[in-house]
Amino acid sequence: MNKTGHRAIALFSGGLDSTLAIHLVKSQGVEVIALNIDIGFGSTKSKLEHMQHMCDQVGVELRTLDIRDQYLKEILFNPKYGYGKNFNPCIDCHGNMFKIAKALMEPWGADFLISGEVVGQRPMSQRRDALDLVTGLSETDDILLRPLSSKALPPTLPEREGWVDREKLLGITGRNREVQLKMAEEIGLKDYEKPGGGCLLTDENFSAKLREFIQHDTLEVEDIALLKCGRHLRLPDGAKLVIGRHKEDNEMIEAAITPKYEKIRLIDAIGPIGAISANASESDRELAAKLTATYGKTSPEKPCTVQIGNMVHAVTPFDSKEPAKKYFIKT
Ligand code: SF4
Repeated sequence: MNKTGHRAIALFSGGLDSTLAIHLVKSQGVEVIALNIDIGFGSTKSKLEHMQHMCDQVGVELRTLDIRDQYLKEILFNPKYGYGKNFNPCIDCHGNMFKIAKALMEPWGADFLISGEVVGQRPMSQRRDALDLVTGLSETDDILLRPLSSKALPPTLPEREGWVDREKLLGITGRNREVQLKMAEEIGLKDYEKPGGGCLLTDENFSAKLREFIQHDTLEVEDIALLKCGRHLRLPDGAKLVIGRHKEDNEMIEAAITPKYEKIRLIDAIGPIGAISANASESDRELAAKLTATYGKTSPEKPCTVQIGNMVHAVTPFDSKEPAKKYFIKT
């Protein structure tokens, strides 16, 4: 439906707020394209199916954009407005997303942008002054409409021009989500809880792993997948060791191994998959083999063989997991 002849691009996370923001504008006859920007730090569970389901329910097209490389190079390690509680540079991240969306307006034939931000909802990125910083960073000025909080904000271009009726938008502020939940019920939205959690940069454990990683190595897009799975250990000579905790981890580790790492597996016992820095010293390799074996179905009385890359190591597992503790990367 595009009764007004106007089109908007909505920054879309897959969450309830951005879906409702889309609905509020779409129901006024504006064509909306939902844009999901992938910065690489989404949770491990695939969100794509969920996002498509949400877009289907409000009747809009979903487009996704991978900006992982640009995000690492330009935003993550040098945010103008700093970090939130963990490794999350939310103001800069939002500003960057809106800047990218703004650049897509012309090629996609859009007249304005939409976001599901709510004034005062999140401590870092959605305070009123933070919203202004985001608008300033992205140079979106008054083409950025926040339909859930519009009435609590100055009128934007689409409101002043009558492309959308400000009276039909909302004025939500603060953390209470009653209005959103009621609206979701009224319009019959289903399954709107996001699967598998949100952005890992807001997670304390993940942030600690990331902080530790960059003390030893330059983070590249290919490194991110391994950071999302397994137990992470730093060995005495500096090698990174990752050991799977369960089947899903093992599969993820195997898929995430890059030329920077070598795969570890037990040859004659059931056990986890691991990964170790390809440039690990011989002594770190021996220790990695022993530690990985200790996490397998092995016995300290029985030596076992562990393959690292193309080499086989005969090791005796530790008699408990205690010796591994001192190598764990801590929060
Ligand atoms: S939570 Fe993550 S994705 Fe969202 S704005 Fe913050 S850094 Fe960006």
